[in-house]
Amino acid sequence: MTNDFAPIELVVVPCLSDNYAFLVHNRDTGATALIDAPEAAPIRNALSDRGWTLTDILITHHHHDHIGAVADLRSGARVIGAARDAHRLPPLDVQVADGDTIEICGVQTHVLDVSGHTVGHIAFYMPDPKLVFTADSLMALGCGRLFEGTPAQMWDSLRKLRALPADTTVCSGHEYTESNARFALSLDPDNAALISRYEGIKAARAAGRPTVPSALDDEKRTNPFLRADDPALKAAIGMADGSDVDVFAEIRARKDRF
Ligand code: ZN
Ligand code: FE
Repeated sequence: MTNDFAPIELVVVPCLSDNYAFLVHNRDTGATALIDAPEAAPIRNALSDRGWTLTDILITHHHHDHIGAVADLRSGARVIGAARDAHRLPPLDVQVADGDTIEICGVQTHVLDVSGHTVGHIAFYMPDPKLVFTADSLMALGCGRLFEGTPAQMWDSLRKLRALPADTTVCSGHEYTESNARFALSLDPDNAALISRYEGIKAARAAGRPTVPSALDDEKRTNPFLRADDPALKAAIGMADGSDVDVFAEIRARKDRF
């Protein structure tokens, strides 16, 4: 799958059983960045099909399904990841932290700390071409499980991502969307935007098409994890008077049991 944000091209690379890696390519300069490295072979194929060579590898977090192929693929490329996670990431050429701006493929790229799934997880935001790489923080209709962080940390991270322009494209790390949609509908069965999104998701999956990337605007209207402060959703789960963080924690806990 290829998306056009001229002169930037985005390629989604399915890896392992349900991971996504992404290639960002600048047609003017030839620079090519990889965001996360789950598996070498499909990424190599995507590169060689297009005659591209990696210039940068961006790492979102330390889990093996995001870094497993860095060693195989890094030759000649600059490897960039979070300073606070450097001890558990492959050797980094550039260490970054929340608030940093780096140039990737000629594009200004902002580093956002989005801890929650892990503490130290980062996202990469490119305001122009309006792409955000969220891996296991904000996901299509979901969010990552809280392996290390607290509900308050993840809710903070998700609010940061929610505040990006609504026409931002969300490039997340896994194809979990169909089961996320069933969970979302269990909380929010009358949400018309969610019902119609679910139809599109089922059709895409039946045709073997990825549901990632997604539009932030759709996430804001249909992703329950972005709506923990929405009075309608609070009421729907019987927590009309709950704090936003408590409601978020409850939604996350219900998803873990779903
Ligand atoms: Zn992960
Ligand atoms: Fe993952």
